[in-house]
Amino acid sequence: GSYHSVGLVIGVTGIVGNSLAEILSLSDTPGGPWKVYGVARRSRPNWNKEYPIEYIQCDVSDPNETQTKRSKLTDVSHIFYVTWASRPTEAQNCETNGTMFRNVLRAVIPHAPNLKHICPQTGAKHYVGPFESFGKIKTHTPPFTENMPRLNVFNFYYTQEDILLEEIKNKEGLTWSVHRPNVIFGFSPYSLMNIIGTLCVYAVIYADLIAEQQIWAVVDPSAKNEAFNCNNGDVFKWRHLWKVLAEKYGIENYGFEEGEKVSLVELMKDKGPVWDEIVRENQLQPTKLEEVGAWWFVDLLHMVGDFVDSMNKSKEYGFLGFRNSEKSLIAWIDKMKAYKIVP
Ligand code: NAD
Repeated sequence: GSYHSVGLVIGVTGIVGNSLAEILSLSDTPGGPWKVYGVARRSRPNWNKEYPIEYIQCDVSDPNETQTKRSKLTDVSHIFYVTWASRPTEAQNCETNGTMFRNVLRAVIPHAPNLKHICPQTGAKHYVGPFESFGKIKTHTPPFTENMPRLNVFNFYYTQEDILLEEIKNKEGLTWSVHRPNVIFGFSPYSLMNIIGTLCVYAVIYADLIAEQQIWAVVDPSAKNEAFNCNNGDVFKWRHLWKVLAEKYGIENYGFEEGEKVSLVELMKDKGPVWDEIVRENQLQPTKLEEVGAWWFVDLLHMVGDFVDSMNKSKEYGFLGFRNSEKSLIAWIDKMKAYKIVP
């Protein structure tokens, strides 16, 4: 047709997938006009329906289903891989997330002759190890740079990078970029680590910015076969974000004593009925507290503190995007409100 590029977004209802669906569909997006296929496991939610993409419901952990649903994907030119599944241990994460990624690559690469670039999203845990190793292993000293050697622990990000190189071996002209974002601010009630939902009901990267970096990398010839960190590129401390959140909700006495240990898992454990009442009173989308709040995730972030990853490489290669973290937090809270996820 009249499309210049054809994007396949795996995980299109996720935190970055949802931003990719929105941005790729715009008429002035680099590399466009884009035709977009979006894959996710469940049926299409209403908050994703406004984007002009072809939605494909498919469980990519199932190799047969993935092979069956690929038949129409022969025109794909770029793959954005923005999904993951959470398992009890990192060894299992490697197994499951490795399989999911391999299933997608094996279903698409041999049947999409125009395929040019594959863009998996991993994360800054590349430098500090998986959640289960936090505080237990020695990590690199921040700021983290893309060329730092791997840590000697299981990490599904390493597995995925290995699978990527294995599956594109001898495929002339097929390029890749790996994106390693820090904590993400974005909009997706379906995200496994949605910190905005968690906070409205505590916030570092803007999902839109990662989507922009990924689109830059797939289009710009200088960004091939490299890994790139991604953060907002500004300087902030979590405590300032607490203040923004408190102001948004008209809370005067917020925050905790310096050095006080606070666990949101503990604080929120019996608040399910309170949330049900808030949902009813404010006529919000029906959700359960455990669906909107990933309290464990915020507790973990507190444990590791502000970990800093360098944006120098990304800038040197030509990606100059940035966001004001305070303003981006406010914008995402407003979006969660507009969609009646939070009051
Ligand atoms: P997410 O949890 O927001 O979204 C996951 C998406 O994948 C959803 O659309 C879901 O429907 C889909 N999905 C899940 N299992 C599927 C399956 N079996 N078949 C088809 N679709 C399936 O994703 P995310 O947070 O953007 O995570 C992508 C990567 O980014 C992961 O490696 C994650 O570790 C990393 N990361 C996330 C954050 C964050 O703050 N969320 C920060 C840094 C790195």
